[in-house]
Amino acid sequence: MAIDFKNSRVETVALHAGAFPDPTTGALLTPIYQTTTYRQGAVGCDKGYTYSRAGNPTVTALEKRLAALEKAEYATCFSSGLSATTALFLALLRAGDRVVVSEVCYGGTVRLLDQIFSAFGIKPEFIDTSDERKLVEAFQDPARLFFIETPANPTLRLTDIELATKLAKLAGALVIVDNTLLTPVLQCPLDLGADVSLHSTTKFIEGHNATIGGALVTRDKELHERFDFVRKSTGTIQAPFDAWLTLQGLKTLPLRIRQHSDNAFQVARFLEGHPRITKLYYPGLESFAQYRLAQLQQLSGGAVIAFEVEGGVEAGIKLMNAVRLCSLAENLGAAETLITHPASMTHAAVPAKQRESAGITDGLVRLSVGLESPEDIIADLKQALEQEEGKGARR
Ligand code: PLP
Repeated sequence: MAIDFKNSRVETVALHAGAFPDPTTGALLTPIYQTTTYRQGAVGCDKGYTYSRAGNPTVTALEKRLAALEKAEYATCFSSGLSATTALFLALLRAGDRVVVSEVCYGGTVRLLDQIFSAFGIKPEFIDTSDERKLVEAFQDPARLFFIETPANPTLRLTDIELATKLAKLAGALVIVDNTLLTPVLQCPLDLGADVSLHSTTKFIEGHNATIGGALVTRDKELHERFDFVRKSTGTIQAPFDAWLTLQGLKTLPLRIRQHSDNAFQVARFLEGHPRITKLYYPGLESFAQYRLAQLQQLSGGAVIAFEVEGGVEAGIKLMNAVRLCSLAENLGAAETLITHPASMTHAAVPAKQRESAGITDGLVRLSVGLESPEDIIADLKQALEQEEGKGARR
């Protein structure tokens, strides 16, 4: 008999929700249904699946687990975070619609709106969603969608979801929160009034640098049906093997994200005390400008830190080239610590002017703190910062 996980703790939900053993052998792990098609008993008589572009049992298991984690009824999984964002826009926007978006957000989201959807008459408007006055101003006029990223990649700027949602609803907008950086374990946007929680499951949710994926999670049946329809019509469902790997990753998400966060706190404390760090952004530190909001809205500071090094762009780049344990890479949310140069990597598609006004300076370094010992991560950063000072140069 299926268990209802409504009253279970997050550790139990992450491990069990949506899973089912192989009905033939009893093998415990939900099988990978690697099939395109499903044999039907009679015309018009199927078992809920017809063709894997429309639905697949392994993907359904992942969807049930993600929905349960967000305390929602529905989730739709996609081949990437950006295909989830694309499906969201295709499902909800029509030519002429206005979309209000956090000016600090993942560069691919900006590119999608600026370079793809604007050609179809969609009007994106990027504003500082951390500023109440800007929100009030933006929602004087009707808007179809309000797309928030909080904490925002890469500067960790926060948006007060509850307040922003109230204002956006007055203008008739549906509210979407990109919850990728915190996952449902650390932040629940739907409880704060948002209509949809969006994930790049590529990041902490799968967590092992092994798959690309995305999801749209909602409590609204009609929205869910529209997302499913767009996914089937455009062919962007997640592959069953990737869904299966993501199910395995999710089992340890509550444990991992807490450890990621604890490690990040220690690394942030080290950077805060280092004389060569000129700017530091980490929502778990009291010195963070929006520390109080972070305390109210999220369960911890998360695992991503951004900073600038004395000496500007050149020094930042030298540091990224000098790390040994940390990997210079275009991802975040993996077990391995990853260091990124947003201006030339993840946010290169954002126009320079917009980057500048959003605080994504050319010297900004983003660190996704992994599960190595924090002492080792700190030692690596220390040696890289010292090389920078000319002490014991490696190259
Ligand atoms: N949202 C955020 C916050 C991201 O950082 C990313 C990717 O870096 C995406 C969405 C897009 O996800 P994907 O790379 O899985 O398409």
